[in-house]
Amino acid sequence: MQELVFSPGPAAVFPSLAQHLQTAYSEGWLSTSHRGSRFDNLSRQTLELLRERLQVPADYLIFYVGSATECWEIIAQSLTRHKSAHFYNGSFGQKWFEYAQALRPASVGQNTGINQALSADQAIDADTDVICLTQNETSNATQVPADVLRETRQRHPDKLIAIDATSSMNGLALPIAEADIWFASVQKCFGLPAGLALMICSPKAMATAHAINENQHYNSLLRLEENIKKYQTSYTPSVLHIFLLNRVLHELPALAETHRQTQLRATAWYDLIENHPVFRPLILDKALRSETVIAVEMPDAESLARVYADAAAKGIILGRGYGKWKPSTFRIANFPALTDADVARGMDFLARWR
Ligand SMILES: *Cc1c(COP(=O)(O)O)cnc(C)c1O
Repeated sequence: MQELVFSPGPAAVFPSLAQHLQTAYSEGWLSTSHRGSRFDNLSRQTLELLRERLQVPADYLIFYVGSATECWEIIAQSLTRHKSAHFYNGSFGQKWFEYAQALRPASVGQNTGINQALSADQAIDADTDVICLTQNETSNATQVPADVLRETRQRHPDKLIAIDATSSMNGLALPIAEADIWFASVQKCFGLPAGLALMICSPKAMATAHAINENQHYNSLLRLEENIKKYQTSYTPSVLHIFLLNRVLHELPALAETHRQTQLRATAWYDLIENHPVFRPLILDKALRSETVIAVEMPDAESLARVYADAAAKGIILGRGYGKWKPSTFRIANFPALTDADVARGMDFLARWR
């Protein structure tokens, strides 16, 4: 039996990929030029499907890039004149801050801890260009609620707001109009292999890019803009990924339906963990808990090693803890590519485990 993967990235892929990979090969997509009408049509349709599914406002642009990490750099190089301000509580938010600081040394970061909502009421220095938030912190399974995003926008109307939604986009409906830059790589909630990411930019973000006029990189935002007007990229993209994304977008139910399923499954996972004699949720405040990644705290290293081994013996791969939480937690991806049968099998194993 194929292993059942609950790691939150690279994560389980949609089972239909077996067929789509075969089709990509037999239809010649692996050798299709990225400068031709066949690719342009595929790309245009994929962008339209994304816009419709994710409810991206008509005046926002959607770009193909290589990874979420690349987006951290694009934001620093092409959208940050002086500095960015980062509010975070985990490893990914912190890494983003460090990448930004490497390119824009004046950037500032504040670790708010895992037991408190990232606050929107901070004073922000006048020369801050971008406020950076990680909507779903994959390392510790916290999320920033939609009302905090809304308050941030209201309080800082003159700043750009950038949101890392790598482990929630396509699993939850996100308020795209409440921020200027959103991004995610596809190996989490999109149920695809790693190697492609999506970046969404508001007209205000694009106006800033034009004002800064940074053009020194292959992935400078203005260069990407010039190309995406023709549905293309400045480099040779993974046409295979765009093909697979297109096929998956055709199959998925509406995002509202996926959102509802994600929330129902998250409730069931947290109920199981809270009522289990050994497991505890890492995040105690229900308002801050991620719905797409669940972090389970274990009493000691011995029981953590044992649950990994017992799961593996049954063909179930639990997500390892990450960063600071690695020695004491495991994680469960609650991503759309997992079927009801997969979730039932994982829950059955954990409910019986002692
Ligand atoms: C996985 C992840 C990243 C890194 O994604 P890459 O595609 O490896 O660059 C960044 N941010 C968050 C929140 C993630 O979960």
